[in-house]
Amino acid sequence: MPEGPEVRKFADAVDGVLTGRVIRSFDARTREARKWLDENGTRLVGRRVLSVRSHGKHLVGQIEGRFYFHSHLMMWGRWQTFVPHPPDDVDRRERARVVVEGGAAILYSGPIFNVGEGDPRAQVEHLQTLGPDVLPYEGVFNDAEFSRRLKLPEYRDLTIGAALLNQRIVAGLGNYLRAEVLFACGLNPWAKVGKLKKREVTCLGRTVPELALRSYLFGATASDNDRERMNTDPSLVYQQGREMGTRHVVFRRTNLPCLRCSHPIKQLRQTTSGDTDEDRSRITYFCAHCQHVSLQ
Ligand SMILES: [Zn+2]
Repeated sequence: MPEGPEVRKFADAVDGVLTGRVIRSFDARTREARKWLDENGTRLVGRRVLSVRSHGKHLVGQIEGRFYFHSHLMMWGRWQTFVPHPPDDVDRRERARVVVEGGAAILYSGPIFNVGEGDPRAQVEHLQTLGPDVLPYEGVFNDAEFSRRLKLPEYRDLTIGAALLNQRIVAGLGNYLRAEVLFACGLNPWAKVGKLKKREVTCLGRTVPELALRSYLFGATASDNDRERMNTDPSLVYQQGREMGTRHVVFRRTNLPCLRCSHPIKQLRQTTSGDTDEDRSRITYFCAHCQHVSLQ
């Protein structure tokens, strides 16, 4: 599933092609969007796209005249851009197609696509409740807001592994980022949120944006030093010479040695809460030694 950093890259690409350009045509196949476009679609033609941005795993495009579009990619969705022309054929996975003068953006497989008029935050349910973005456009990550949300009474008994996937607490973390963040802070994924120490919450508030930014910039959460070790020591990877195998320090490194303590990395299913857009349980990856997990 694309997480905040991957959705930001899609938003950058779509923004680069659509923003500032005049809409030639706007099509969608999702039911609600198609219905809206049947009635209002012609009102979009001739208007300029003002911006395309992501918040967490959501992408929002603003169109002049107070129109917007919104997508959530879930597991398999992706945006692709075309300059100067999109393909004539419509792929069966196509969900939305925005054509501007000199370019186009097409959404494939993403099940959630909305288009409408007014403030998208007031109309798209999931946008209203999102926690602070792991990759803020302006300023720095709002760690005060993150910790305020994390400490709400309703989350006291939630495990921190589940809490980090809850988009109401922080927007943009998915399975790989949560595993990497918890490892970096030495936190047990099953620790109850209400039992976290102040310094642990501080570590999360610092590490969440740090690893999200690394991932956005370099396509990896592992530090340069750790990547170098994995590149040069064959005992640290499943297969040498595969760039993918060096991106993370715990995620998908089951049974490989921990880069800090050499104990084998473990994997276990972890139940998540109802407010996440992930599956109800996801595999989490951790070092039982560094993260103080007792395995029966
Ligand atoms: Zn370890």
